[in-house]
Amino acid sequence: MRRQLIALAALLGSVAATAATPWQQIHQPIPGSPQSIGSFANGCIVGAQSLPLNAPNYQVMRQDQRRYYGHPALIAFIQRLSQQAHQRQLGQVLIGDMGMAAGGRFSSGHASHQTGLDVDIWLQLPQTRWTAQQLLKPQPLDLVAPDDKQVIARHWQPQIDSLIKLAANDPDVTRIFVNPAIKKQLCADAGQDRTWLNKVRPWFAHRAHMHVRLRCPANSLECEDQPPPPPGDGCGAELESWFLPKKPGSQPPVKKAPPPLPPSCQALLDRHLL
Ligand SMILES: [Zn+2]
Repeated sequence: MRRQLIALAALLGSVAATAATPWQQIHQPIPGSPQSIGSFANGCIVGAQSLPLNAPNYQVMRQDQRRYYGHPALIAFIQRLSQQAHQRQLGQVLIGDMGMAAGGRFSSGHASHQTGLDVDIWLQLPQTRWTAQQLLKPQPLDLVAPDDKQVIARHWQPQIDSLIKLAANDPDVTRIFVNPAIKKQLCADAGQDRTWLNKVRPWFAHRAHMHVRLRCPANSLECEDQPPPPPGDGCGAELESWFLPKKPGSQPPVKKAPPPLPPSCQALLDRHLL
């Protein structure tokens, strides 16, 4: 028994050593006028707000993780999108990870979501609200076939097209990441109105959720936007390249050591983690 405990302690110790980031120790938003600072994959946020956890048109999953903070622009976007989904009777919008109270790097799972401008929204729209237990341990619905080439027809609903299109047409949204097979289905379903597809970008994983990214808010002077996606609907050669046999560079990017923090984020950490 004692040996098992020691082994368990060693295991937990090693997990903690690799997993912890200082940002997880900040449990309340940093007071101040809202500022997203740095880049999506290396930044932080002052003046974040909590997404209201009780709302009629969306539900917040894994609340125990406390990843429901963001810039007020992100809160407003989620409320706007959910309201539009409700008006169109698409179903309940399921909200996954946003950011931590001061943003910053997660222990695992995300490289981005650091400036309070990213949110994961699941691509299933239940008609009835989930129970607290379901929200705590949500079951993702994998929309992509095991061969990675197409969506699973019986899981695909027109409501999913509608939700992604609503999000892409939002003026504050700059990019939406989905699995290449999901982008392929959107391209096939889109018809004549295709400009919104420009923002929908194929990316690894993202088989059960879309990752929505907002532009830097006007008053966030230290926030770094990405260049816009290439012109066009992105349904041609670029998308096809994701389905070709493996070629160099087709693997997910290897995780590198994090770059130095933006000075304002480092200063914020120094002040709050004395
Ligand atoms: Zn995400």
